[in-house]
Amino acid sequence: MDVKLSDIKVLFTEEQIQNRIKEIAHEMNEFYTGEEVCAICVLKGAVMFAVDLVKELDMPLQMEFIRLSSYGSSTTTSGKVNAVDIKLPDLNGKNVLIIEDIVDTGLTAKFLLDFIGCNFKTKSTKFASLLDKKIFRQTDIEPDFMGFHVDDKFLIGYGLDYDGYYRNLKFIGYADKSLLE
Ligand code: 5GP
Repeated sequence: MDVKLSDIKVLFTEEQIQNRIKEIAHEMNEFYTGEEVCAICVLKGAVMFAVDLVKELDMPLQMEFIRLSSYGSSTTTSGKVNAVDIKLPDLNGKNVLIIEDIVDTGLTAKFLLDFIGCNFKTKSTKFASLLDKKIFRQTDIEPDFMGFHVDDKFLIGYGLDYDGYYRNLKFIGYADKSLLE
């Protein structure tokens, strides 16, 4: 483990994250008034965000989990999205809300939106991401609901891992690039 907990600098505190999630949930509650929603949490990274977000939503909600991966143990994307587990129920006629941790290149989001678009005729498909890192974007994907813009940092914590570790942190932080190489 090259990155120690003490190497991780805080970018967003627990309080900032939780406050922003409440604001996003408020937007969603207004947007979906009177509608049912099927939320799809993209594991593993989005698990913390999805769990905290859905607790603030007040519409009838189903929750599904899928697992995609593009990073492996590296800190840069492989450019290829791997559908580790993408079993979904019938989404025809449903309001689908995809919940991601971070949009970076946008390849994962595009893969998933294309997959849903090809397999189902949904009532609506929206995409929520806690973090939006635009600098390496390779697609025209923009989240419909978004928490924070971030710049060129490899982020760790609150679901985001470093080599499988630190997903359990309550804050989102980063380590100096020299430690990640
Ligand atoms: P994309 O396909 O948009 O390039 O990347 C999406 C996935 O890459 C995210 O769901 C996340 O798992 C991973 N990812 C992108 N940026 C970061 C980062 O700064 N830190 C961590 N830990 N994972 C990231």
